[in-house]
Amino acid sequence: MSESATGDAHRVTGDAGRADAAGRVARDVGQAAAGAGDGTRAVRAGLPEPAKYEPTLPGPVFAAHYHLPGEPTGPYTYGRDENPTWTLLERAVGELEAPGQDAVETLVFASGMAATSAVLFSQLRAGDVCVLPDDGYQALPLVRAQLEAYGIEVRTAPTRDDAQLDVLDGAKLLWIETPSNPGLDVCDIRRLAEAAHARGALVAVDNTLATPLGQRPLELGADFAVASGTKQLTGHGDILLGYVVGRNPEAMAAVRRWRKIVGAIPGPMEAWLAHRSIATLQMRVDRQSATALAVAEALRERPEVTGLRYPGLPGDPAHKIAAQQMRRYGCVVSFTLPTRARADRFLDALRLVDDATSFGGVRSTAERRGRWGGDAVPEGFIRLSVGAEDPEDLVADVLRALEASAA
Ligand SMILES: *Cc1c(COP(=O)(O)O)cnc(C)c1O
Repeated sequence: MSESATGDAHRVTGDAGRADAAGRVARDVGQAAAGAGDGTRAVRAGLPEPAKYEPTLPGPVFAAHYHLPGEPTGPYTYGRDENPTWTLLERAVGELEAPGQDAVETLVFASGMAATSAVLFSQLRAGDVCVLPDDGYQALPLVRAQLEAYGIEVRTAPTRDDAQLDVLDGAKLLWIETPSNPGLDVCDIRRLAEAAHARGALVAVDNTLATPLGQRPLELGADFAVASGTKQLTGHGDILLGYVVGRNPEAMAAVRRWRKIVGAIPGPMEAWLAHRSIATLQMRVDRQSATALAVAEALRERPEVTGLRYPGLPGDPAHKIAAQQMRRYGCVVSFTLPTRARADRFLDALRLVDDATSFGGVRSTAERRGRWGGDAVPEGFIRLSVGAEDPEDLVADVLRALEASAA
């Protein structure tokens, strides 16, 4: 219906977030801040041109359809294809993932998995070869099985040591997840992207853990940055969201078509909440990364802690590459306690950290990852997501819970 709307995604005026039907390109408030710092860019990202009596960020537009007399051309025809609240959010995400790159297109989805599946299933055909990480997000094995059921050959290799390089020959698409969840290994995006492109493969990077303020995959050579907005991008643990940012118009047209035929679209309320949350992204990411480093440093001194991982920790096996390609190291710290029972007692003893899955929220969470059975991790493996609490309080709580959980 509105594949023609593709090029209209960036045409938004101050008229309550509605695209200018005449197609005029409004002064772009977000791009006006393009050369500014991350905090400045985050608070302005995706905002429409100021208009008298209009709110700064227009509220959610609830519409299944739009007034559409005559020829059914976009930008806004039917609610599964486009929504003005998505348009503003897509612009915000695009400005953060690819500042100054006007040709880049962004599409928002109902969840990170909707975005992930949209890239994989729109780009791959029976007989194609796809390379996935073997230590990535826990739903990837399910995706793999589905790809294989459709006749796509799937190869996997670990994230560490750029091991995916060894299985790239003949690949159509390389899927990278760095830092990987939950093991926090890091690979060299630029090196892998160059090798993949030399073989004619497209490259997608799952940027969920880093957020666009931690890492910008498109600048490092990727064709797609894909992420779950459920985690730190929105940061309050109250919505599910996903996005795809891409530079290749043909590939993005296929991703858009996939969104249309599968219908995995975000609600306007979720899209608006996400946009509102992005205004504080820089503050949250800075605070949470700084505290995550403090927590990792405290854990490093503890004899019962093994396998401690945080890419921002000097001495971490991933630190060297992470320092090359990341601007902030994220809010997740992983480590292992000696036994499953010890890990359970530790989680139970924490007062400021909720025992819950997911990560990236303003309230710290932790879980024994092995309880899901999907990741190849030891029984005592803990994934700790550092929130926005005062660093001293959080470090004290973690150290106290370690003491309390000892035998
Ligand atoms: C959570 C997550 C996803 C999936 O996102 P949802 O919003 O839960 O669908 C994908 N990749 C990574 C790295 C994740 O952490």
